Order: sequence, then structure tokens, then C-alpha cells
Amino acid sequence: MKRLDALTVLAELTHDVPVVVTCAASSRELAAIADRPNHLYLLDSMGLAGSVATGLALHLDDAPVPRVVTIEGDGSLLMNPNVLGTAGYLRPRKLLMVLLDNAVYGATANLPTHAGRLDLGRMAAAAGWTTRVAATADELRTAWTELEDVDGPALLHVRLEPGNAVDVPKLLEDPVILGRRFQDWLLARTGTGR
Ligand SMILES: [Mg+2]
Repeated sequence: MKRLDALTVLAELTHDVPVVVTCAASSRELAAIADRPNHLYLLDSMGLAGSVATGLALHLDDAPVPRVVTIEGDGSLLMNPNVLGTAGYLRPRKLLMVLLDNAVYGATANLPTHAGRLDLGRMAAAAGWTTRVAATADELRTAWTELEDVDGPALLHVRLEPGNAVDVPKLLEDPVILGRRFQDWLLARTGTGR
């Protein structure tokens, strides 16, 4: 399974929940599948998707949304692995991180990341996250269901083959516009967001 295959499944599963997405190919490919106002694309903010989603999940603890989802990459999580300890300590009840782990930096000619040797899922588990692993679309759906009712931070570790989708346009929208669109959606959906 490649990133685009996993994101196609995730787009089916996340119609109506906040989704904070890491930069570069993950945002670009998700937007090409489905560009929705519940997506907050963190363009140029590598490493911060988990942190933003942790804050959001803490804020939305009592709001009428079942999950706060963040889609991270292995290179991005390795830029800010502190989020594993932070969320493990603060325990946002609704936080679900989907880690798209292809063990390479997709934006820089597939240079290897440390994830080739480090098991990021086990690092999350050691910090108190509930974890599942998936390598196929069916396993991804099953793991998603298993994590649905977890109370506390959860990490769905998706093992991917390297490779970016071809002919996916760059995501060139102004981040301020994208942020405002997400805020408007969040306010309408939850009654809170600013
Ligand atoms: Mg990667």
C-alpha cells in the first residue's frame, strides 16, 4: 500500500471530524482525493501536526465530535517526537494520530528516515498511547474500528511502501485562507473554534 491508497481510505473515514494533516505530499495527496473544510493542512509546518491536534483535542474534550485526527509522516514525527511524550502525559481523550510511515522523506528523493530502524509505534506505546499497526487497506479499516472507542491518545501505525502519487498538483492555497476555512467549519460543527 502506498500513501495515496491509505489516504483514500482515510478520506472515507473522516468526513465529519477535524483532520490536521502534515505538510508536503500528505496534504497534497489528501487534497487531491478530497479537499474538505474539515482538513487543516499544515503547509510548511513540518513536525507540528501532532502538536496542533493535541491542543485541539484538549480543547474539544467536551465538544460533539468523536475524534480529532492527525495525519503524520515518519519524517515529520521524527522532527518533533516530543509530541509522543506530551500527549502521553496530557492524555487528550479524542486524539487519534494516523502515522503514514514509509521510512523515507517523500519530499526529498526518498532519503531514508530513522524510522527504518526505529519503531515509532513502539515509542508511542512506551509513552502511553494505545497503538495498532496496519499495512493494507483492510487492516487500516480494522485498526481504525478497534481504536474508535479508545479513551486517550491512540496511534494507528500504517506501514507503507515508499512513493509519491504522480500528477498530483501542488497545494498552493494561502495557509491563512485554509486556516480560516477550517475555523469556520469547526465553529459550525462544534460551536467552538476561535
Ligand atoms: Mg515518510
